[in-house]
Amino acid sequence: MSSCCRPATRLRPSPRRCGGHHAGKPSLVTPMLELRPNCECCDTDLPADSAPAFICSFECTFCAACADARLAFVCPNCGGELVARPRRPVAKLAVNPASTLRVYKPHACSRVS
Ligand SMILES: [Zn+2]
Ligand SMILES: [Zn+2]
Repeated sequence: MSSCCRPATRLRPSPRRCGGHHAGKPSLVTPMLELRPNCECCDTDLPADSAPAFICSFECTFCAACADARLAFVCPNCGGELVARPRRPVAKLAVNPASTLRVYKPHACSRVS
């Protein structure tokens, strides 16, 4: 009687895999300019597709007049340089709308002495 020679190796049902804790999390946040709708200094409207606007690296946003005459292209909030904000074409704005959150901090620009 030698019919019971089955291999006694036990296959583990499933090795533990770390499939749970970091699966399916969409971390695809596209870094995109906010394109704020107004100047922080004078509250002038700055439409994302038309008006010339200036921003710093933190996206403090100013109109051309304030950036030039009042701020000398230096951000009053962070001290960084202000550069021309790229415009976003209207077709892209439909897909990626500009920010509608108005930031208005006139006190930051009133350091005229
Ligand atoms: Zn302004
Ligand atoms: Zn700034």
